[in-house]
Amino acid sequence: MAFITLDTKIEELTRVGKTVSGRLRNLGVSKASDLLFYFPYRYLDYSKVVNISDLKPEESVTVRCTLELIKNRRSFQRRTYVTEALVSDGTGTLQIVWFNQPYLTKTLKAGDQIFLSGELNSDKGQFQFISPMYEHASGDTIHTARIVPMYPLTKNITHKQLRFLIKQVIHLADNIQEWMPDSFIKKYNLSELAWSLYQIHFPKNQDDLHTAERRLKFNELFVQQIKVQKSARDISKSKSHPIAFKEEEIKRFTSSLPFTLTRDQKVAAWQILQDIRNEKPMNRLIEGDVGSGKTVVATIAALNCALNSLQTVIMAPTEVLAMQHYEKISLLLKEFDLRIALLTRSNKIINGENIHKKILYEKTKNGEADIIIGTHALISEDVFFKKLGIVIIDEQHRFGVEQRKLLTQKTLEKKHSPHFLSMTATPIPRSLSLALYGDLDISIIKEMPKGRKKIITKVIYQKDRMEAYEFLRERIKKGEQAFVICPLIDPSDKLGVKSVNEEYKKIKKDVFPEFIIDFLHGKLKSQEKEDVMRRFKNKEIHILVATSVIEVGIDVPNATIMIIEGADRFGLSQLHQFRGRVGRSDLQSYCFLFSQNAGEKTKMRLHALMTAKDSFELSQMDLDLRGPGDVYGSDQSGFPEFKLARLTDVEIMKDAKSCAQEVMDLSLDNFPLLREVVEKASEHIHFE
Ligand code: ADP
Ligand code: MG
Repeated sequence: MAFITLDTKIEELTRVGKTVSGRLRNLGVSKASDLLFYFPYRYLDYSKVVNISDLKPEESVTVRCTLELIKNRRSFQRRTYVTEALVSDGTGTLQIVWFNQPYLTKTLKAGDQIFLSGELNSDKGQFQFISPMYEHASGDTIHTARIVPMYPLTKNITHKQLRFLIKQVIHLADNIQEWMPDSFIKKYNLSELAWSLYQIHFPKNQDDLHTAERRLKFNELFVQQIKVQKSARDISKSKSHPIAFKEEEIKRFTSSLPFTLTRDQKVAAWQILQDIRNEKPMNRLIEGDVGSGKTVVATIAALNCALNSLQTVIMAPTEVLAMQHYEKISLLLKEFDLRIALLTRSNKIINGENIHKKILYEKTKNGEADIIIGTHALISEDVFFKKLGIVIIDEQHRFGVEQRKLLTQKTLEKKHSPHFLSMTATPIPRSLSLALYGDLDISIIKEMPKGRKKIITKVIYQKDRMEAYEFLRERIKKGEQAFVICPLIDPSDKLGVKSVNEEYKKIKKDVFPEFIIDFLHGKLKSQEKEDVMRRFKNKEIHILVATSVIEVGIDVPNATIMIIEGADRFGLSQLHQFRGRVGRSDLQSYCFLFSQNAGEKTKMRLHALMTAKDSFELSQMDLDLRGPGDVYGSDQSGFPEFKLARLTDVEIMKDAKSCAQEVMDLSLDNFPLLREVVEKASEHIHFE
């Protein structure tokens, strides 16, 4: 084989003909260096090599053995080739089966020393390896007996092919120049680029793999951050009102609360109060799991703003939620003499009084409303504000970037643009991509309010339904309340999909005739919805049957049981959001996931809800379980242009961001190598 360099065309590599090179080009791979940067999306850990006599079922392992016997047979009814083999290693023998790989009898011969890696099946006490990976036991292995890379594939390209090709070029990693200045490598504790490239493909162990992953993710996020900050520095010439910290009143407010703020709440509030003292517009996102208490933090910001004679507008995605915020914030701030308004399509209220739309518009425009809470209605044409200090958006991911921009432009006083605060419970693509695309600071509220108990989550199959109902009956008798969530409003043809109307009737008549039951869904009039919510809050309803309208933000601390019908039909994040409607007090809460689908995959997904520590971990598990797309997809990472970075890499993102900030402060021109990388990355985006 000819001497190869980073620029060697893939056609010149061993075993790459015209067809294969065409397929590789479809993956964006045309030369050797592209292969180096074609990263695995996951790994199989086959590094544990064991004796046949020590094998345990369902363990991912490798055995080193002698092939005793191998033969093909055609299975007629299934129209498949079956290759059967027998291996031994001095401690025992083992049966192997491969399907549809008849060429194996040419590759593997009796007497060969081989590695076999896979997961062991046990059938009636008899161990068997089904379609294990195999490799001759001579020299370095790439398919077995190690942590094995799995690549994003396209049609007719296999993992084995990619591993084989990458193995041919991996030594070229040494020719890739390190572009990160030494000082940053040290400061941010990064591994060397060349080493990281080796390790990402053929990791020595899990620790090295994680270290390498961190470096390469850092690269992606860092380059992105440089771009973001460059443009932010270019365009953000706008100024906001510096909002003074009214310490005394804020202290008075926090001590008026029926609880003490958690440390994370205090930190978030403090960060906001610091940010808004500046002329530089704040752009901060509060990420906090459901029930972590974001509202009160937003309230502190709004109060401080009002104390500076500036208006605050708070936008929420649904009328029910806007109403709830209005009530909650009015209550929290009752000792302060503020004018608090609610503006939704069906409600125009100021300080508890219904007023005409026009009058409310006048008031917001003349500065006679201090805190204005509402829905999308806030961005309708006729709404203006006299002097906006802060714009707050709750459940940020529900809104588009344009809507947010529109809202910030609603202030009549054009010299200043408002500070911006967003809140989300879901670490989902949009909010984090905003972190990437906009110059955004993040406050994370991880700690839950004191006394909260972990919600007990259980998957319930049909046979245990009655038992779960009985359990619910006991809790309700004790004075607690419950939600029942259904995927649909009306019964449908789809067999077995529960609807609110049907379940409501059934539960009311057949299951809990002794309780007061009501329902809530998106087709009800707003007035009806509010009425139901109010009665539920006032404990006038025992069980509320609802659709996903309940998903966002509803806060009824006395509700302790959540039943989710057809749980397998919802995404994990959504289920997590539903579940967050209970467990909002110091009462023990329960979430029962009713599922008629007992498939393995469903089980695993629902199981993740029981084991995940918080929404961050859950979204990672969701990604892992959803499995890979065929090619690097936006779906997988949440960030379309990234190969490795994922939406859960918040910590790396923070580091990358602060590193980018340092570079920009010192000027990119002082780092020619680095600048080149950024410029190349920009070209890439443009031409793709
Ligand atoms: P989310 O972050 O999901 O929007 P909320 O702001 O609705 O959560 O708060 C959930 C519940 O917890 C509310 O009833 C709120 O009053 C309460 N709460 C907030 N902070 C604390 C705290 N530090 N201690 C106890 N309860 C709190
Ligand atoms: Mg909320």
